[in-house]
Amino acid sequence: MTTRRRSRSRIPVLAACAATALGMTALAGCGTGDDGSGDGRLDVVASFYPLEFLAERIGGEHVGVTGLTEPGTEPHDLDISPRQTVELSEAGLVLYLEGFQPAVDEAVEQSGAEHVAEAGSFTTLREDGGHEEEHAEEGEAGHEGHDHDHGGTDPHVWLDPVRYAEIAEGVGAALAEADPDNAAAYERNAQTLAGELTALDQEFAEGLAATETETFITTHAAFGYLAERYGLHEEAITGLDPESEPSAERMRELQDVAREDRVTTVFFETLVSDETARTLAGDLGLRTAVLDPVEGITEDSPGADYFEVMRANLAALREALGAE
Ligand SMILES: [Zn+2]
Repeated sequence: MTTRRRSRSRIPVLAACAATALGMTALAGCGTGDDGSGDGRLDVVASFYPLEFLAERIGGEHVGVTGLTEPGTEPHDLDISPRQTVELSEAGLVLYLEGFQPAVDEAVEQSGAEHVAEAGSFTTLREDGGHEEEHAEEGEAGHEGHDHDHGGTDPHVWLDPVRYAEIAEGVGAALAEADPDNAAAYERNAQTLAGELTALDQEFAEGLAATETETFITTHAAFGYLAERYGLHEEAITGLDPESEPSAERMRELQDVAREDRVTTVFFETLVSDETARTLAGDLGLRTAVLDPVEGITEDSPGADYFEVMRANLAALREALGAE
């Protein structure tokens, strides 16, 4: 899986387009007409890993994919550089997820890119509010302040293989529209990938059908879609945004939940600090393990791509929940 960075020989054009894009004036000539790469491939700019993965798997040899989020960078609070603003304005297709990375939302809106596909429009998004009501019933607090960046919906939609398959089909259609000459290949690849995601969904459904407990504790609230899909209950130390800090009250609540629900494991992630997870686990005498929200792939990730990391997640959940 390679992520092709933008090419070398086009500096004057880039500079001209940068000036135009930053000035917010007419964008004609930047990113229109030709696909922009000069090598016959469609230039796709994807905002973060799960969308890069879809573009690469569905686009194959017909596309060059540039990611806005560098591997190893936590994607929620990404900043967009002037160079990336240019990449967006010149892209043959932009893929992003509205409500996940505010700087990307703004830059996409200002880019004037000809073909833009918003991943959330291809599926249904889970209300962040449902999550909060559930906690309110249990007398819990500590989730305030996390939804301002998300427009009231939970952005972590790619962690539900069923919804991610719907997004794959939408990305296939968007590629076909942006590059009609290769439409048949895009549609075929999207179907194949959706089929693989359906198989992954069945693995999760079977693997988590019977467990000793349904509750798992995570660092940030990334696994709401996954929990809902497979009848589990996620308790997150922080909210939807990994930058937020848990209150002392929230830590006490988690201790109660862990005891009542016979939780065995506190999960942490590869891209954010594991300090609070380790503190909580230490206080309760619980194990720690990695549950990876697939927000980016690094050499520390428990797998080399979406499928490998998700299968590692399934194995970790089966172990922690006491699956049969
Ligand atoms: Zn997240």
